Amino acid sequence: MKVMKFGGTSVGKPERMHEVSKLITKDEESKIVVLSALSGTTNSLVAISDALSKNDKKAAKEKIDTLEGHYHNFIKELVTGDAAYAKAKTIVAEHFEFLNITLKISHNEALYKDILAQGELLSTKLFCLFLEEAGIDHQYLAALDFMRIDEHDEPALDTIKTLLEQTLKQYPDKKIFITQGYICRNAKSEVDNLKRGGSDYSASLIAAATNSTVCEIWTDIDGMHNNDPRIVNKTRPIEQLSFDEAAELAYFGAKILHPTCIWPAQLAKVPVKLLNTMQPEAAGTTIQEEASSDGVKAVAAKDGIIAIKIKSSRMLLAYGFLRKIFEVFEKYRTSIDMVTTSEVAVSLTIDNDAYLSQIVEELKTFGTVEIDNDQTIVSIVGNEITETEDLLENLFETLKGIPVRMVNYGGSRHNISILIPKAFKEQTLQQLNKGLFGLE
Ligand code: ASP
Ligand code: MG
Repeated sequence: MKVMKFGGTSVGKPERMHEVSKLITKDEESKIVVLSALSGTTNSLVAISDALSKNDKKAAKEKIDTLEGHYHNFIKELVTGDAAYAKAKTIVAEHFEFLNITLKISHNEALYKDILAQGELLSTKLFCLFLEEAGIDHQYLAALDFMRIDEHDEPALDTIKTLLEQTLKQYPDKKIFITQGYICRNAKSEVDNLKRGGSDYSASLIAAATNSTVCEIWTDIDGMHNNDPRIVNKTRPIEQLSFDEAAELAYFGAKILHPTCIWPAQLAKVPVKLLNTMQPEAAGTTIQEEASSDGVKAVAAKDGIIAIKIKSSRMLLAYGFLRKIFEVFEKYRTSIDMVTTSEVAVSLTIDNDAYLSQIVEELKTFGTVEIDNDQTIVSIVGNEITETEDLLENLFETLKGIPVRMVNYGGSRHNISILIPKAFKEQTLQQLNKGLFGLE
């Protein structure tokens, strides 16, 4: 068994869906195909839901109609025969009927999740209809029958495994299964999801649950690159990464793979392949247990970082100080990315400002608090990078002229992170491209 996951842009146009059908019929291996919603759909569903939560029914209705129009155009080019077209119209009608009903009932969190689930339900059903018309044997699987999260909103891998095994057993003769990414049921059996971009996570969980040979993540970019191609002129694709290296890169902004996607695959030792639907023959990036080589492999940047400095003379020689500070962040469920300490101050970073004012208020009881907004973490990643000779010397030389706000070194052997003002991001990535990779 293998898993093949296709993202929003890979199924976002009828012709792209046609391409996907070719990719999934290329070999004989049994496969579970995991699909995202058509690109743009989840954003529209969020906007519909937001309008409903503000009780702006008019705006919600307009957005529902626009989205419905989009699907009507989509199905015209997806299928050719009258019978298939009639079925496609029924599928679209069913889901938009639901969305229209939401205009008449009161809005709440559970309904919000139901609305968000429509995107993946539509994409998979329409894709199955296309396969049916094309005569490609397959089986539709409802992810809501087996994808589960627990009371802490964490995937319940053992339950997923049991339920999925039971489901698959019903179809011993099928080789191609189609299911939804992103959506699941929670501990209360309500429809829920694995958070935005969560289809990669679904794929990795399904791959782990079925002990798949590989988890293929198909996007429209050819694998991970050593640097951000939108910012620097020359980048090179990375053919192989270890799970540890990939985790560091995914957390720090390499947009191509959702960070949570790493652990299930790593746990079950299923290699993850990042492949490009536009260039299916390209090698892409393989992520597996072993690293291919030591030393610097890539840099990645993450924007929207807030640096917080807590300065207190009471910290001098005190124990338990860090615990008290960290407890404040725990209380507001805000995770910390970078930490550095001196004898009298602690600097740390967060990327979620939802509770910033509450956090700052509580931190003020420990000392003076300073905030720097609009910071960027630049992470330099590679196996055993901290043991690489001359690396620090080379790195600091390369960073000449950049006002570095924080440095994290030694937290992991595979990562060195620096914090800079966002205004210096382009310059930093360009200088690193030259200094560490010799690319200009
Ligand atoms: N459709 C969902 C989103 O846009 C999940 C995904 O695409 O991974 O967030
Ligand atoms: Mg996506």
